[in-house]
Parts: sequence; C-alpha cells; structure tokens
Amino acid sequence: MLPVVALVGRPNVGKSTLFNRLTNTRDALVADYPGLTRDRKYGQAKYEQRQFIVVDTGGITGDEEGIDAEMAQQSLLAIEEADVVMFLVDARAGLLPADKGIADHLRRINKQVFVVANKVDGIDGDSESAEFYALGLGNVKQIAAAHGRGVSQLLQEALSPL
Ligand code: GDP
Ligand code: MG
Repeated sequence: MLPVVALVGRPNVGKSTLFNRLTNTRDALVADYPGLTRDRKYGQAKYEQRQFIVVDTGGITGDEEGIDAEMAQQSLLAIEEADVVMFLVDARAGLLPADKGIADHLRRINKQVFVVANKVDGIDGDSESAEFYALGLGNVKQIAAAHGRGVSQLLQEALSPL
C-alpha cells in the first residue's frame, strides 16, 4: 500500500493547485470558483523515488448545507483514509472561522497533520503565517503551490515518517 496524503481546507486555499503540482496533471479542476472539485480526487505522485497517493477534496467551510455538506463529507472520508493530512490555509486571506472549524476536527483525530500556509509568494510569509499557530496544530509550513516554493521541504518532512 502506498502512503496516502490528503489535501484538506476550505475552498480556494489552493488544494487543487498543490494536487496538480504533486501529480503533474491538470486533471483536478482548478478555478476561481470555490468548491468546484466536488468529489475526492486521487492522483499518484512521487518525491525522491517515493511513490504516494494524493487526495484532493472539494473543501470544508464549517457549516454546510446541500452540496457543501456532500463536499464536507468527502473531505471527512479523505481524512479518514489518509496517513498524512495537509491542512491548507491561505496566507493572504488570513485565519478565518472556517479554518478554526476544520482545525477543531483535525485536533481530535489521531493523525499526522501539517498546517500549510499557501500563497506566500510576494508577501512576508513569516508574518502572514504566524497567526495560524493559533490553530493549535503545531508548526506552520509555508508554500506557494502555484510556483512550487516550499513544496519539496514540505514533502521531505511529511513523507519521512511514513
Ligand atoms: P482549492 O479550491 O483549494 O482547490 O483552490 P485552487 O487550487 O482552485 O486555487 C484557488 C485560487 O488560488 C486560484 O486562483 C489559484 O490560482 C490561486 N492559488 C493557488 N495557489 C497559489 C499560490 O501559491 N499563490 C497565489 N498567489 N495564488 C495561488
Ligand atoms: Mg479545488
């Protein structure tokens, strides 16, 4: 069995962008329309000869109804299936209530979680990501999924215990 890495977070934080970078495909739907990827989506990825499965999700907002509830359910299932969870947040948007709701869930499960502050390109990553320590999930990694910055360091750390 290959290790499974789930990408979760509220819509529009860059989950599909990271998925595409990790899997070298443009298959996942990336758009400015939050929540377009409604189902879990699986891809194969490789980092330094290590193969793993990446799961993209549609996003969780916290207090969902209708299609949003289905997306949230998919995200919860993806978290259950995963060996490692990458919890993406948006360093430009800052810490939002939906992020806190997701963190509440992630703190309760016994799984390795990485808080990943995305979109640190062109901003002061250290100061813009500092507030995410308040999520209570430990260290905050900084990446720019669209440009690849920080992604190898993240994978190095995420995959080494697997
Ligand atoms: P998802 O809803 O979490 O899957 O988010 P997407 O991957 O669809 O990205 C949402 C928006 O954020 C898109 O407009 C992306 O181009 C943009 N985005 C993603 N990663 C980055 C990044 O590293 N830097 C910047 N500036 N924008 C990004
Ligand atoms: Mg998406």
